[in-house]
Amino acid sequence: MSRQNFHTHTRLCKHASGWIDDYCQAALAQKVSVLGFSDHTPFPDGRWFGVRMSLEELPEYAAAIRQAKTAYPGLAVLGGMECEHVPEYLDFFRDTLLGQFELDYLAGTLHSYQYRGKWTALYGSAITDDQLAAYADQVAAAINSGLYAFIAHPDLFGVSLRGWSPAAEACSRTIVEAAVAGQVPLEINAYGLRKKTIADGDGCRHQYPLRRFWEIAAEYGRLLVVANSDAHAPEDVWGNTDDAMNLARELHLHVVNDALAAHLTASSTH
Ligand SMILES: [Zn+2]
Ligand SMILES: [Zn+2]
Repeated sequence: MSRQNFHTHTRLCKHASGWIDDYCQAALAQKVSVLGFSDHTPFPDGRWFGVRMSLEELPEYAAAIRQAKTAYPGLAVLGGMECEHVPEYLDFFRDTLLGQFELDYLAGTLHSYQYRGKWTALYGSAITDDQLAAYADQVAAAINSGLYAFIAHPDLFGVSLRGWSPAAEACSRTIVEAAVAGQVPLEINAYGLRKKTIADGDGCRHQYPLRRFWEIAAEYGRLLVVANSDAHAPEDVWGNTDDAMNLARELHLHVVNDALAAHLTASSTH
């Protein structure tokens, strides 16, 4: 089976190692045939600067990807960006990232969400029912924007969820139903499988992917799913993606890595 990974970071985000070429070489070694870069987007106002490239580094990132596209026979390289769904920057994503820098795709994400007028990180204290609803609505808005090729780790709320609840179920359904309606793939993120597990209720679980989320997702026949490594080191360019694929297979989820690769490489800029 061919291997595609659409979720890859670089040292520019300050919490990953390796540069574009390191990941391309690792991809060839790990039999990955389609490699999409999706480093954390910079913001014109410099927000969340500690975990992303600066605006000044964007040309270097785009140029390195452009060079890599012709440098590695046998490897299809795609340029993308992982974008926090900040409504006031959707024009920047569209006009600058996709337009001016000719990136091939954007991955939508929310590591933080707006709650009572403030951006609140998912990583932190236990998430409340109200906060789950706010997060779900904003992920649905990201899906409905039509800007994103897929939504990265929609179940990231698992990092601060303590005990499954009706609110967690409602949050899951809001996200999945928006994804089904818009036919935007949701990502099973294998990086979560490489992170330490947490105690929750009687047992231990991955912070994400959240099995309960994907069991609910499996109830929806038309849901599209991508499995990605979310590589933060070249050796993880395939990472635990087989495990993510196995979860999808077990739950009879419809994995579309092949179709997404065909779609994105067909429209890819060279
Ligand atoms: Zn990251
Ligand atoms: Zn990521």
